[in-house]
Amino acid sequence: MNKSVNEMRPAGLAIVGGGAAGMFAAAVAAERKLPCVLVERKARLGSKVLMTANGRCNFTKDISPEDFLRDVGPCAKWAAAAVRECPPRQIIRGFKSLNMPVRRMADGRMFPADGKAATVVHAFGDLLRDEGVPVITNCPVTGIIPREGGGFIVRTAGFDLAAANVLVATGGVSYPKTGSVGDGQNFARQLGHKIVPYRPGLIGLETDDRRITSLAGRRFEDGRAKVMDASGRVVFDYRGEVDCESFGLSGAAIYNSQRFIEHAELKEYSIEVWFAHERLVFRNLRSRPLKEAIVTIGGVSLDDVDPRTMESRKVKGLYFAGEVLDVDGPTGGYNLTLAFATARKAVCSIAGR
Ligand SMILES: Cc1cc2nc3c(=O)[nH]c(=O)nc-3n(C[C@H](O)[C@H](O)[C@H](O)COP(=O)(O)OP(=O)(O)OC[C@H]3O[C@@H](n4cnc5c(N)ncnc54)[C@H](O)[C@@H]3O)c2cc1C
Repeated sequence: MNKSVNEMRPAGLAIVGGGAAGMFAAAVAAERKLPCVLVERKARLGSKVLMTANGRCNFTKDISPEDFLRDVGPCAKWAAAAVRECPPRQIIRGFKSLNMPVRRMADGRMFPADGKAATVVHAFGDLLRDEGVPVITNCPVTGIIPREGGGFIVRTAGFDLAAANVLVATGGVSYPKTGSVGDGQNFARQLGHKIVPYRPGLIGLETDDRRITSLAGRRFEDGRAKVMDASGRVVFDYRGEVDCESFGLSGAAIYNSQRFIEHAELKEYSIEVWFAHERLVFRNLRSRPLKEAIVTIGGVSLDDVDPRTMESRKVKGLYFAGEVLDVDGPTGGYNLTLAFATARKAVCSIAGR
């Protein structure tokens, strides 16, 4: 094995991935005085964060942790400890403490006041610089190798880094141009973790029905979608935006319905869609491809990660946070909140050891 560049002074923590979870983790590590290094595949931090909410970044929802966990779906029980320790209101306070004015929408969704996701990414970048956290960009990690006697080698094309602990925060697999290409899941698989198969979450549904496609580009804020199972029973009902697209339907009501259908593994269903006094019913619509999904359903199995610490149950000192895990939530700031809360949990448990 090559000698690592920091052999004499291994990092306390190497964070692999500088997206939402990785940047937040590095900020918490700085607050806790835990020496860390952040390694990011792309030339800049937070490429996916920059895309969130059409570049506006709906970073959390101003609700209680209990309401958050009620809404979030299948991962609620596993994520409960992380969310209770880093609830939405703490995230809002943290953002304000970064001198970032925030704006609350009537339904509780939170945005930076200037409506720019770039403000969020810059705030994290500035904080990490001011706190002296080394950030290595343009540097894909190619392997995470446990060492005999503890600790890891974090391998890159150019050099190896030694670290006592590693946090994998490499994201899901959608929008691969943002850098999240499934590397973390591959490292996890190589180290003996189960990977729950990927499916698209929060994505449009395809139909060539002219009543929809002829309205492509129109958005209807007062929409609604209802999902019925094969027996006709209503199993999901959501009031929210419905958008018409050239491929079919999108918008919050459609995204949340699609995510419900995917989690419930409904093969036979119908979906009733309301907008602009129209009520249309469709059967078994196909989801758009995974690469366009807002979130990846699937990833590192929660069975293999301790929810009290975010540490792997397979490899000591290896931690996971964010979308690389099999966690996902509805639209409305839930997914960034899950990334932040799991990142905080991981770093606090390392710092507290
Ligand atoms: C279009 C769109 C809009 C969205 N809007 C919202 C929203 O408004 N609110 C919300 O809550 N959620 C939203 N989401 C979801 C949210 O962006 C993600 O859930 C969140 O970014 C996940 O954070 P993460 O840190 O786990 O992964 P990411 O933010 O994807 O970060 C992973 C990082 O790891 C890096 N990486 C990957 N592999 C390696 C490697 N081998 N070596 C080093 N670095 C690596 C990547 O380059 C990337 O920077 C949206 C997603 C999309 C696609």
